[in-house]
Amino acid sequence: MPFTDVAAALQALRALEAKTHAYSHALGVMGHDAATAAPKGSFAGRGKTMGILSEIIYHLETDPEVGELLNFLESHQEQLEPAVQREVALLRKNYDQTCRIPSAEYVAYGVLLNEAQAVWEKAKKGNDFDAFAPYLEKIVDYNRRFAAYRNPALAPYDALLNEYEEGLNTRILDSFFAQLRQAIVPLVSKIQATKQIDDSFLHKTYPVAGQRALANYIMDVMGIDRQYCGLAESEHPYTTGFNTKDVRITTHYYLQDVAASLYSVIHEGGHAIYEMNIGPEYEGTAVGHAVSMGIHESQSRFFENIIGRSRPFIHYIFPKLVEIFPEQLAGVDADQFWQAVNKAEPSLVRTEADELTYSLHIMVRYELEKQLIAGTLAARDVPAAWNRLYKEYLGIDVPNDTQGCLQDSHWSGGSIGYFPSYALGSAYGPQMLLCMEQELPDLWQHIALGDLRQVKGWLQSHIHRHGSLYQPAKLFEMACGPFDARHYTDYLTKKYTELYHL
Ligand code: ZN
Repeated sequence: MPFTDVAAALQALRALEAKTHAYSHALGVMGHDAATAAPKGSFAGRGKTMGILSEIIYHLETDPEVGELLNFLESHQEQLEPAVQREVALLRKNYDQTCRIPSAEYVAYGVLLNEAQAVWEKAKKGNDFDAFAPYLEKIVDYNRRFAAYRNPALAPYDALLNEYEEGLNTRILDSFFAQLRQAIVPLVSKIQATKQIDDSFLHKTYPVAGQRALANYIMDVMGIDRQYCGLAESEHPYTTGFNTKDVRITTHYYLQDVAASLYSVIHEGGHAIYEMNIGPEYEGTAVGHAVSMGIHESQSRFFENIIGRSRPFIHYIFPKLVEIFPEQLAGVDADQFWQAVNKAEPSLVRTEADELTYSLHIMVRYELEKQLIAGTLAARDVPAAWNRLYKEYLGIDVPNDTQGCLQDSHWSGGSIGYFPSYALGSAYGPQMLLCMEQELPDLWQHIALGDLRQVKGWLQSHIHRHGSLYQPAKLFEMACGPFDARHYTDYLTKKYTELYHL
C-alpha cells in the first residue's frame, strides 16, 4: 500500500493497533475470568480459545504492513510530534521483538502458561513442587530463548529485566540490593533484640462480610470511581487495566488476618489510580499505557506503605475499622493499630511481608532467577536453593513449598525478571514523597483528614498522565531528580527507629 502523507499512515497504523488491542482486550478479560470467577476445571477449553486469540494477535503484530507503515513514518520523523515519535519508537521495538519470535513458539508458550497456571494452583494447595517443576523448567527455557530473540545484544537475564523496566540490568541491581541489605539487615537485628509489637488483635476472626465492607470503604477513601474499577477475589491479588475506563483489581480475604486484604486493596488501588489517570490524549496509542512495572509498583506501594501505613492515615480510618469490627478491636487504639500494621519481623510470605523486610524477599527471587536463566540452577533444585536463601537473608526456616517457592504466581505466569521491579518501586516512593512535601507543605494535614486529592494530583501531573511518553528513569528524574536509593534507606531507618524506639 503506497502512503502519500503522514496523517494517513498514522491513521492506518492506529487502525491496526485498535484491532490488536481488541483481541488483547478479549484475552485479558478471559485471563481475569480464569483467575476470579471461572470454575477450576475449565482451563482446557479456555486454553484452546486463548491459544487462537494469541495466534491472531501475533499475526496482527507481525503483519508486514505494520513494518511498512513504521518505515514510512520513520522516514518522515521531522513531521511527527514528539508524542508520535515516541509512539512510533515503542511500536518499532514491539514489532522487531515480536517478529523475531517464531509463531509456533509464541503460540505454544501461551498454551503452556494456561496449563501451568492451573498446575501451579494445585501444586501450591497440595505442597507438591514436583508437579510444577517440569512446567517451571519449560517456562525458564522459553524465557531464555525469548530473551535472545528480543534483545540478542544483552545478557539473557538483562534482556528479561528490560521487558519490565527499560534500562535495568544486573549491574545496577547488584549494587542496589547490596545497598539495601547493608541498611536493612542491621535494622532487622536491632528490632529482634528489642520488645516486639503485639499485633495479636489483627489475627482474631474477621468475618469476610466485614472485610468486604472495609474494602469498599477504602476504595471510597482513595476516591476510586467504581463505575470504572471493579473489585473481585482471586488467589493472589492483582490489577489489570483494559483502558482508563475499565480497570479491575482483586483481593483475597483471610478470616484471621484483617490487614492482608486491607493492604491488598490499598496496594491494588494505587495501581488502579495510575491506570485510570493516563492522559486521555494518548488513549488508543502505544503511549497510552503505564510505562513500566517499576513505576507501577512505585504507585501501589506509595499508597500501601507511605500513605496507608502512616500514622495520620491510620488515625483517619480507625473509627471506621472499629465501627465494622467493634468486638475484634475492643480495647485497641489507633496508635496500637498503627504499630501493629508496621510490625517488622522476618516472615515466609512476600505479599504479607512488612515494609522493612520486603526487599529481602525480592533478593531471594532475584538471585534464583539469575541462576535459573544462566542455567546454573535446575528447576527441580529451586526448593532447596530457596530455603537456603531464606535462612541466609531472613534467618528463617521454610517449613513447606506452599509457603516457600510455590507462593507466588509470577513464574507460573511466565514473568521472570519482574520481581526486582517491586523493590525498585518501593525505593522510588520516599524520594517522591520528599518532592511532594516540598511542593505541598500541608500534605499531611490533608491526609490526616482522609483527603488524598493532593497526593493523587501530584502523582497524576508528574507520573500518571504521561503514560509511556518518557523512559521510566527519565520520567522519575523529571519528577524528582536522579534516583538515589539512599532516600529509601534513610526513610526506613527513620521510620523503624521511631516505631521501635531503637
Ligand atoms: Zn503491585
